[in-house]
Amino acid sequence: MRGALAGPRLLLRRLREAMAEPIGAQARLDKIVVHIASNMVAEVCSVYVLRADGRLELFATEGLNREAVHLTTMRAGEGLVGLIAESAEPLALADAQSHPAFSYKPETGEEIYHSFLGVPILRGGNTLGVLVVQNRARRTYSEEEVEVLQTTSMLLAEMIASGELQSVASAGGDIALRRPLTLKGSPVADGVGLGYVVMHEPRVIVKQLVAEDLKQEEKRLEEAIAEVRASIDKLVDRGDQVGPGEHREVLETFRMFAHDQGWLRRLREAVQTGLTAEAAVERVQNDARAKLQRRPDPYMRDRLHDLDDLANRLLHQLTGQPFVRANDDLPDNAILVARTMGPAALLDYDREKLRGLLLEEGGASSHVAIVARALGITAVGEVANIIDLVEQGDAVIIDGGTGEVHVRPPADVEAAYAEKARLRARRQEQYRKLRDVPAITRDGVKIDLHMNAGLLIDLPNVAETGATSIGLFRTELQFMVAPQFPRMSTQLGFYQSVLNAVPDRPVTFRTLDIGGDKILPYMPTMEEENPALGWRAIRIGLDRPGLLRSQLRAMLRAGAGRALRIMFPMVATVKEFDDAKAMVERELKHLDRHHYEPPSDLKLGIMVEVPSVLWQLDEFLARVDFLSVGSNDLVQYLFAADRDNKRVSGRFDPLSPPILRALKFITDKARAAGTPVTLCGEIGGRPLEAMVLIGLGYRGLSMTGSSIGPVKAAILELNVAEIEAFLTRRLAEHDGTESLRAELRRFAETNGIPL
Ligand code: PEP
Ligand code: MG
Repeated sequence: MRGALAGPRLLLRRLREAMAEPIGAQARLDKIVVHIASNMVAEVCSVYVLRADGRLELFATEGLNREAVHLTTMRAGEGLVGLIAESAEPLALADAQSHPAFSYKPETGEEIYHSFLGVPILRGGNTLGVLVVQNRARRTYSEEEVEVLQTTSMLLAEMIASGELQSVASAGGDIALRRPLTLKGSPVADGVGLGYVVMHEPRVIVKQLVAEDLKQEEKRLEEAIAEVRASIDKLVDRGDQVGPGEHREVLETFRMFAHDQGWLRRLREAVQTGLTAEAAVERVQNDARAKLQRRPDPYMRDRLHDLDDLANRLLHQLTGQPFVRANDDLPDNAILVARTMGPAALLDYDREKLRGLLLEEGGASSHVAIVARALGITAVGEVANIIDLVEQGDAVIIDGGTGEVHVRPPADVEAAYAEKARLRARRQEQYRKLRDVPAITRDGVKIDLHMNAGLLIDLPNVAETGATSIGLFRTELQFMVAPQFPRMSTQLGFYQSVLNAVPDRPVTFRTLDIGGDKILPYMPTMEEENPALGWRAIRIGLDRPGLLRSQLRAMLRAGAGRALRIMFPMVATVKEFDDAKAMVERELKHLDRHHYEPPSDLKLGIMVEVPSVLWQLDEFLARVDFLSVGSNDLVQYLFAADRDNKRVSGRFDPLSPPILRALKFITDKARAAGTPVTLCGEIGGRPLEAMVLIGLGYRGLSMTGSSIGPVKAAILELNVAEIEAFLTRRLAEHDGTESLRAELRRFAETNGIPL
């Protein structure tokens, strides 16, 4: 190629000047194509931009018939340009017309050009358009030329993303980036949130694309790579001290990429084309994303996330932009967008300013979801690619009830949701009026509605919701947000605050339920093949009795002179309960020895969430004071479907005969033994499911505070005898129906039960 590397750098400089000129968008684009064509010694240079309707529109050309600009369009997948848009990969052909995908557009007059080089215009791995050069003579484009064109396309991506081209698009041709999008995720926390996107991990904005001094950029890149490598090595070497979210396996993958010669070579080459070090990282990452995103293989997508994280580290290193968002630049109506997020991170935000939470991963029973509900933050999870589809500051509406997400909504959608939000507020007002109305069905059956909690901020809601008690206090949330393992005295203070905050109502404390997806940042992370089936909850408590003992001691002391209820999670065998109970008894003796007042009434129970418990209920019922069904886990174990794995978590319906039979089996047994049983999984807080649970014999349900109103409203219209009869009949018909949801919904509608 001519002029060694002066060519591409000169081109970039020209383009930068063109970008800065105070001229209209079309004039700027026309200049850009002229510069590119002349620099690359091509007779043709054309820019195609992807429109919201999925068509690629010719926006500017040097060399083809200019009359065709804004008239020639093609579908993604149509012709060579469409092929590039679809595959997001460059295409270089010495004889374009013999390619099977070649499609001839007579108005452009391109039949005389033989060689063709096209590259996708990418941003965040999404195609925004296609940039093409063509030559009359049959020639082979060098790899270097492909590189140069890719680099150039970054500038065009900036121009498209800025929205400046919208004004010159043909009539009705909205540009894809700005188009309104409707996406579907899974409902996580009910509510309607209208606001503006705030990225939890702000993407680094690369302001300077073109290098001033090549040597300097090479040096900056090498230094940043060395820094990032050293920091990863340090994290890996620290071994079990890794911070939250930085599990060893991820770090090892990071380390692998950080030493990957192919990746490093591509970064260096991108700098050679005249980009700044940070623009080079962005370019290479754009390509990697485009390639990996199009792979259906989940393993590759995970690698993409790792690679993304690494590229992000490099970008932060290079630009000095902060990793985490500061709370003070949060707008008043923020919709937080994250790939994943731990509960502690969510708690760091100013709750008053959050209108919603939008996650790429993380379903309804993930931990951050539970915290979002506890905080009353509307949330939608499992929205594919959301990180790439939105930009900081985009208007967005999320519907936590249906899982619908509207990005850059048109005015009518916005108006409809504003109305929905108003209606919801009115409904909330009606629920508030129900606060002191007892939850009694039409045929006179009293149902106890309890609240799930786990943080002090939950507690003012207990009185507000009219909950009978705290049916599940997840103690691990406090541990998860603490910087280190809380000492006995800290725990004691915390449990005392909980009990004092609800002096007139019982609290059921659950002992530490960690392991699986619930990770304590300061505890060694275990590498387990199947964490959900691994070392967790009571298993840890019994193997590390020091932990459980200090927790029990704190609870018993906090409960001095009061009624206290303690329950153990993930119990699978009778012996586990016996051992845990023996520890409680030892601690009671300890209180006595030290003249501390014991609880006036102590009740011990277990979570029914491991299937083995079902087949030894008689033994458990002879020992425990109460049972609480943890349907989140019980359903995951009965169906063998990881509750945090979005590929399977929604695949099986709890309203299916096998689950309903298992749930009924538990209440039948408990009732016969005269032992109280409640259910505290997420299904208890959904009106339709709650109706069914009551039909199966449950008289106590524990749920997130905001669900109490809607569930109570359903109970007030329910006739227990009717739903019981319906379920008894349906569950006796062994006809293989996979889900009874539709039938049950019809039942509710026919009987006027508000859902
Ligand atoms: C459950 O498993 O249903 C439950 C209530 O506990 P957690 O969601 O905390 O595992
Ligand atoms: Mg559980």
